[in-house]
Amino acid sequence: MLQSLRLRRIKDAPRATLAVARPPGGGARVRLDLARGVRGKMAPVDRVLRVRRAVVEAVAPLPPEALARVQAAGRYLAEPAVARRAAPPFTCSAMDGYAVRAGDAAGPAALPVARVVYAGDLPGDPLRPGEAVRIFTGAPVPGGADAVVREEATERVGDRVRFRGPVRPGENLRAAGEDVALGGLALPAGTRLGPRQLGLLAAVGADELVVHRRARIALLSTGDELVRGRIPDSNGVVLEGLLAGIGAVVRSRPVADDPAAVEAAIAEALASSDAVVTTGGVSVGEHDCVPEALARLGADVRVHGVPMKPGKPFLFALGSGKPVLGLPGSPSACLVAFEVFARPALLRLAGATRLGRPAVRLPLEGGAEGRPGRARMLWAELTGDGRVRAIGRDAAQMRGPALADALLLVPEGTGDLADGEAVETWLLGDA
Ligand code: AMP
Ligand code: MG
Repeated sequence: MLQSLRLRRIKDAPRATLAVARPPGGGARVRLDLARGVRGKMAPVDRVLRVRRAVVEAVAPLPPEALARVQAAGRYLAEPAVARRAAPPFTCSAMDGYAVRAGDAAGPAALPVARVVYAGDLPGDPLRPGEAVRIFTGAPVPGGADAVVREEATERVGDRVRFRGPVRPGENLRAAGEDVALGGLALPAGTRLGPRQLGLLAAVGADELVVHRRARIALLSTGDELVRGRIPDSNGVVLEGLLAGIGAVVRSRPVADDPAAVEAAIAEALASSDAVVTTGGVSVGEHDCVPEALARLGADVRVHGVPMKPGKPFLFALGSGKPVLGLPGSPSACLVAFEVFARPALLRLAGATRLGRPAVRLPLEGGAEGRPGRARMLWAELTGDGRVRAIGRDAAQMRGPALADALLLVPEGTGDLADGEAVETWLLGDA
């Protein structure tokens, strides 16, 4: 596992490239060149993940606010959600059958069936010794009964019921609070409130919640080609959806490759949003205005360049204390850098505690190309038989991300990976 690091710029070092990394709790300092890597032996994949950790740790979660559950979809809990009622709320039957005292049902005798209890009924009077009550799934179990014998294990003889085998106390009962006890923890802080989580909160009567404020994110797509309509802003389309998927309110606009325009757009975005995401204009070409604009705004550029392919020009800065995530313009690189750095950082801003995609190691079908000196990220499909297949090179730019189920992290140094070799696989899910 990675150690967390605190990064500090070295005085007089060229901005954005040099930093001192110090493991928490002391230990040896490591000199990092974030563009070219640690002067030493750290592997590029470790450097990428270390930079990722540093980026995430530079971002603070947004403040909390109280909200009704019905308005909290897509938010992240700022405080644990506590059960205001137990689940299940009362001891109920897990089967259609007969509620009994287990000891009474042991013998060969048939028990008289006193009455019927349906789901939605009150439990009524306690069960008298030597009697059975016909009961249905979800119906409250009358006092005195300590088991439900399922219908299939009984034989009805007129108004009596006989049992085929011994009955275990507790059999086919759902005890009150066995899922969540009254006052117990329903969901921990940091949980995203999706449909299944909201269902649990409804079940336990957690109708008032403390959640993080919704993140307002400004999305700036830079490039004259976008402003002039020469190419569609496809990165903007993807990023808007991905940001909405983590619960953010997004304002997006294209910006020309003009230093003053980029500077003004970033300044306005910093003033009106919690974070800024840019695409394009982040490399070292003369039309790449983002780094220069940030420097003029006095932003603290923490990262510019990572040993990763694609996505090398990635930039991270704090402007007025707010995160600025500079993604490359090339679509595949843009979306890889989003997955590796921007998404976890923005999830932390939103208040999430689970920041990474679910990661598994799966065998490769057909091998994959490594890249000496860099961590290689590849778009990939799940094969349906428990393996993963890299999506071919020609589709890597635009179709790769669209077809992918996963991103593969291929460490450098291993060279090309052979068919059947296990590879770290980040599952992308639906968004
Ligand atoms: P840049 O990183 O600005 O040098 O852009 C690299 C490549 O990505 C160029 O071919 C751009 O036209 C393309 N590109 C830049 N921004 C976008 C965008 N928002 N959507 C799609 N392609 C883009
Ligand atoms: Mg550009």
